[in-house]
Amino acid sequence: MSAPQPNRIPVREVDLNANKQRVHPRFIKGFYQNIRVITMYALLALFLILPWLRFNGRQAIWFDVPSQHYYIFGITFLTQDFYFIAVFAIIAAFLLFVVTVYAGRVWCGYACPQTIWTHMYQYVEKIVIGDRNKRIKFDKEPMSAKKISKRLLVYFIWFVLSVITAATFVSYVAGTDFLYHSWQMVGGVIPFPDWPVWVWVSMFIFTFATYANAGYMREQMCIQICPYGRFQSVMFDKDTLIVSYDYERGEPRGARKKGTHPDNLGDCVECTMCVQVCPTGIDIRDGLQVACIQCAACVDACNDIMDKVGYPRGLIRYTTERQLVEKEPSKLLRPRLFAYLALLSILIGGMIYALTGRVPLEIDIRRDRNQLSSTNAQGMIENSYIVKLTNKTQEPHTYKLTLEPQEGLSLQLRFNDVPLDAGESYDMPVSIYGDPDVIESGQTPVILTVASEDGKYKVSKQNIFTTQGQ
Ligand code: SF4
Ligand code: SF4
Repeated sequence: MSAPQPNRIPVREVDLNANKQRVHPRFIKGFYQNIRVITMYALLALFLILPWLRFNGRQAIWFDVPSQHYYIFGITFLTQDFYFIAVFAIIAAFLLFVVTVYAGRVWCGYACPQTIWTHMYQYVEKIVIGDRNKRIKFDKEPMSAKKISKRLLVYFIWFVLSVITAATFVSYVAGTDFLYHSWQMVGGVIPFPDWPVWVWVSMFIFTFATYANAGYMREQMCIQICPYGRFQSVMFDKDTLIVSYDYERGEPRGARKKGTHPDNLGDCVECTMCVQVCPTGIDIRDGLQVACIQCAACVDACNDIMDKVGYPRGLIRYTTERQLVEKEPSKLLRPRLFAYLALLSILIGGMIYALTGRVPLEIDIRRDRNQLSSTNAQGMIENSYIVKLTNKTQEPHTYKLTLEPQEGLSLQLRFNDVPLDAGESYDMPVSIYGDPDVIESGQTPVILTVASEDGKYKVSKQNIFTTQGQ
């Protein structure tokens, strides 16, 4: 059956009840599949390796939630630095917009964890059961000892992969040193992880989520749950790169004798290879669909067929609506793209400026709320504060606290030097004394400064000295 020739690339609505059958894609090789497999497994390797990297003797990327310290290659962030994470998330979202406006759903097809893990789990089925036809046949076979053993082997490998995934996720938070080195001996002989409850719960959740997503949910996640797939049409324009079938060239589709090209047929030989290789089980010839993750497997498959039947490649190809439908060259440089790039540059520039100007030392001053001020035996007015010092560097430092000189005010400390380890905080009680004959009554701004002994790091903070509340 031939499809009507549209004046636009048709967009197929999502049928939430469709695609319930298990998809068994055929694994193929080709230009885009080679790029895709290399990209996917390089990202997977990065995910597995990153928590094992060390920087200055500490895990290089470590989100130590229990102690609220977050280490990223020598920079220590505290909970109060979370605006950096928020800005980073905004930058990532804009980056995704820009990439989507230009290159469509390249993230979905080449880099999304859902795609990578699904590919890996489907590959396990291919290794254990066989290629596409064998897997389809296997599903229909009656239960037998052989079928059960193969199924159990697949489930076991999936489970091991899920546990490795969960352990890697959790190691970004718990730390690899803790996760893999805290063992206790049960009954004096059996080693068993000595993890707190939150680690066990996290391990369970991540293992379950990975197994369910990659083993069972697969393309349903993209079709029914992932919001990005639904938003794509808002981000697309006529110049966005998409994987598309060339209706004009392909239709009317139909089988033919090898080496022939009947006049009443287009170039599509109706071999269905484009459908067989699709990891989400759709037919690209139906038009743009939310389930299409733009993996280009159908491009490679169709090019292979075109080579075999002696027709030019590119019946299914990366193209744009402007090229394919309006027969005009695509506009690579367009206002929308410039607007996104300008915004992205501002955000990245601001983030770099904030990060490079950031002093890895924090001072926080809290007043004694119960008593704003008091008068001591010598008649001096005393204000008490708790000064919290935090060493956000990766090395130990000794700090000194000083009061910006002001006539009539003096600082009293319990310790002149405060040694702090990397990432350590200390609440130091301090008092400021005011001479009532010199200072004005009411509130006087005071500035406390903390500096490291080597003079490298220095921050100041203002507070109030008050004569009220005596
Ligand atoms: S792979 Fe190409 S020729 Fe074969 S059915 Fe798909 S579009 Fe037609
Ligand atoms: S239709 Fe083609 S590009 Fe889209 S998901 Fe299927 S194989 Fe990948």
